[in-house]
Amino acid sequence: MTELRQDDVQGGFATRAVHAGHTPDPLSGAVMTPIYQTSTYIQEGLGRHKGYEYARTQNPTRAALERCVASLEGAQHGFAFASGLAALDSILKLLVAGDHVVAGENLYGGSHRLMEQVYQGLGLRFSFVDMRDPERVAAAVTPATRLVYAETPTNPMMFLADLAAIGHITQARGLLFAVDNTFATPCFQRPLEHGADIVLHSSTKYLNGHSDMVGGILVTSRDDLAERIGFLQNAAGAVPGPMDCWLCLRGIKTLPLRMRQHNLAGREVAAWLVQHPKVQKVYYPGLPNHPQHALARRQMQGFGGMISLELGDVAVARRVVERTRIFALAESLGGVESLIGHPASMTHAAVPIALRQAMGLTDSLVRLSCGVEDPDDLIADLAHALEG
Ligand SMILES: *Cc1c(COP(=O)(O)O)cnc(C)c1O
Repeated sequence: MTELRQDDVQGGFATRAVHAGHTPDPLSGAVMTPIYQTSTYIQEGLGRHKGYEYARTQNPTRAALERCVASLEGAQHGFAFASGLAALDSILKLLVAGDHVVAGENLYGGSHRLMEQVYQGLGLRFSFVDMRDPERVAAAVTPATRLVYAETPTNPMMFLADLAAIGHITQARGLLFAVDNTFATPCFQRPLEHGADIVLHSSTKYLNGHSDMVGGILVTSRDDLAERIGFLQNAAGAVPGPMDCWLCLRGIKTLPLRMRQHNLAGREVAAWLVQHPKVQKVYYPGLPNHPQHALARRQMQGFGGMISLELGDVAVARRVVERTRIFALAESLGGVESLIGHPASMTHAAVPIALRQAMGLTDSLVRLSCGVEDPDDLIADLAHALEG
């Protein structure tokens, strides 16, 4: 567990993205945080050391990353994990058998799988509800409920959850409220400001931004939760190595720049797709006709680069994902390079078909992660793929 320190840089978001958590290396003065590739640390005598004993518990490169993301989310404590799902695993371990969780109906496929196929068997109970309506969250709460878990915008339907409204519900009932902020990033949305207790990231995505590592992050400002999450992080040990922490730290320095470009590309590509005759629906919160556009404007400072489109025909969807040249057919998202995917057979294959159909996740839905290339080239690539 790492806490923000008095000497951590204050200032605007872009300033903190570059500097927060970093301290010049005391040995050499290196400006960039070194990759402390070590499993252990020498002790001067029994019980006398510099605060580092063993690298599962603490690593200076990891600590810099944890402080940096905590600062960006407006949190006091940060915890890095080996993946986004390892981070979710630690949230679920805050509960005990018999506890009930209200979770979004549309979650990342792997989050749903971890809940249903692992933790359900260990005695947790889950209700998956459509979180576009906060009333449904309130209605799903039982005396056993301990946690409300939301993703917003959701992967891949781009549904929004009203964070402030859900925050009121959880605070009034004394429930934990955790939010997966992977899609928006703290650049565009800071759930702790709206009443969330814990924010989760798959840092594999926008935080790293270069598709060259897998990682997860949790942040919180609650000392009681921080103590327990830090305990779990060390007890279970699903921690990232220093090299991956360093790659993520390096990526975060340009997060505001990248998000600005992802947002520009997202808006231009979505506006172009809307008027294309072969595209039946476009799911993008930045579009004025997105049913939750007003909420998006209220709780987000940008809409990002994720777009889903309904093509109405599986064969057309297959053709499009196989014909793009700049958009690479691949799982994942949030990198500088554009990706295209087919959620039903890729990222969300583990979600039961009935649940997929209920939320509109059809076999002809295609998901785009718009990178930071020239938006005109992205549009030309899609135009070519949709031809014929
Ligand atoms: C990818 C992803 C995850 C899982 O993260 P991993 O790093 O792949 O374990 C969780 N939530 C969302 C929204 C994601 O896109």
